[in-house]
Amino acid sequence: MCGIVGYIGTDEAFPLIIQSLEKLEYRGYDSAGVALLGSDIKVVKVVGGIDKLKNKILEGRVGIGHTRWATHGGVSERNAHPHLSCDGEIAVVHNGIIENWEELKEELRNHKFVSETDTEVVAHFLEERLGKGLSMEEALKELKSRLKGTYALVILKKGDDRIYALKKDSPLVLGILESGFMLASDIYAFSDKTNKAIFFEDGEHAIIRRNEYRFFDSENRVVEKRIENFSWSSGKEEIGNFEHYMLKEIHEEPNAVRRLLLSLRTDQREKLEALKKLMETKRKVMFVASGSSYFASLLGVYFLHRAGIESQTLIASEFHNYERVNGDTLVIPISQSGETMDVLDAVKLSKRKGAEIVSIVNVPHSSIQRESRFSLEIKAGQEVCVAATKTFINQVVLLMELASLFGYRAELDTLPQEIEHVIKSNEKTIRKLARRLKDKNDIYIIGRGVTYPVAREIALKLKEIAYIHAEGMMGGELKHGTLALIEEGVPVISLIPSKDDEVMSNVIEVESRGAMSIRISPESKEFKIPQTNSGKFAVFSVVLGQLLAYYIAKERGLPIDKPRNLAKSVTVK
Ligand code: GLU
Repeated sequence: MCGIVGYIGTDEAFPLIIQSLEKLEYRGYDSAGVALLGSDIKVVKVVGGIDKLKNKILEGRVGIGHTRWATHGGVSERNAHPHLSCDGEIAVVHNGIIENWEELKEELRNHKFVSETDTEVVAHFLEERLGKGLSMEEALKELKSRLKGTYALVILKKGDDRIYALKKDSPLVLGILESGFMLASDIYAFSDKTNKAIFFEDGEHAIIRRNEYRFFDSENRVVEKRIENFSWSSGKEEIGNFEHYMLKEIHEEPNAVRRLLLSLRTDQREKLEALKKLMETKRKVMFVASGSSYFASLLGVYFLHRAGIESQTLIASEFHNYERVNGDTLVIPISQSGETMDVLDAVKLSKRKGAEIVSIVNVPHSSIQRESRFSLEIKAGQEVCVAATKTFINQVVLLMELASLFGYRAELDTLPQEIEHVIKSNEKTIRKLARRLKDKNDIYIIGRGVTYPVAREIALKLKEIAYIHAEGMMGGELKHGTLALIEEGVPVISLIPSKDDEVMSNVIEVESRGAMSIRISPESKEFKIPQTNSGKFAVFSVVLGQLLAYYIAKERGLPIDKPRNLAKSVTVK
């Protein structure tokens, strides 16, 4: 899930690469490195964030950089990219997994490997082929035919004023800058410098010089590529007066919802209606998503069900084990980044089986969007914190608006100011609650119907940000096992829309066993929640859950925006 960058042009490469790596840091942040081309290839690497690279300035106008999320080999300077050939003349950065790295390493046993990564074989493979007299172009073609797995690779060679790039299943894009060209994992890396880019398709490779580029297709034939104009927030998202991006992004929710509703009712209206039509004509409607987006899709299924529309959702990583997709199926992938590998795989499989794809994404021009017949955007803007907050809310709002086309009563017009009110009038209470919960080892969250996916989403936030084991579950399931774990002082958060007797009986069950019971409800004295429909109650509960995870994590002194072991865009399987 790393971020990769390459620059070739007339400006100093190092500061440009650092700036872009900072923007890609959400893709991985355990270590980082840069290689610049001068008379030699010079490399700097650090364990930790890009910040630590800043004082290690290298000079040159051609270079590559990497911010890592380790898949093969621990987090160490040795395993950080770029990786070099034995003679140090080839440098490689990689996003993805080379599945046959062991086989290739065995073939290259006369080479000296210094890292435990899968990536390093690429540098040695090219070195071996060049040693046998092949040109870089020829060696690259051979590399393409031998590599198995997923990769976006950007490569430098000493004495060669070019950058080489190839891609399969991991994202890669070429930005057309005034001063030259920039390769990157996504457009956000250079969206403050240009709005022109060329997207690599699977199997393509490119050779980039200072003033020209050439693309080759999977058969290595020259291919003419279209330059796309994109619009996406430019520049660094300012954190303002907030201590963390997560808190800033929660506070942005009212505006993000406003922006989305406006767009769904104006520029995206036609697409929303086209989606409705497709849902009516196809026999099967199937969402596919991972993580928070999966919980949003569960809510989507619920809203649609209320409007009499049948749909289902599958976790993307399990999609191939359960799907029954055919030409009469509409598949709706939901992904913030639009790059989630598991979701992308499900999309490709569905397409092969003839299904129609209409996606819901945040990042435009992303791979999933480009694989879709058309795509709806949630318009949440850049989200920097690894944990989804405003993007989750906007996914849910989009699905509510979609369901309302079928008759679901969503009453969304007042939602932005209501979210604002919920944040303002409960933040203090949540902070106090966070102090009570900060030393707990387990937290249970129970819901029923519309609040079940919410319970799951809140549990996920508590796990990823506050590092507390949390379980979000259906209240009715407690008595089938989990109740055994409820004893004196165990926190149970119950999500109780008004007049929900069923969940109330579960609340009584846990309270009778001494649980530390926290009731989130419009009726509760502790929280201030407007009396409204259950869909909006679900949204308010998520907001409170997000704030709770944030404040517990803050109490515990955790790295909120960049939790350990995680990355925002999950581009490996
Ligand atoms: N497999 C490579 C490594 O572990 C790249 C990881 C990635 O793209 O997430 O270094």
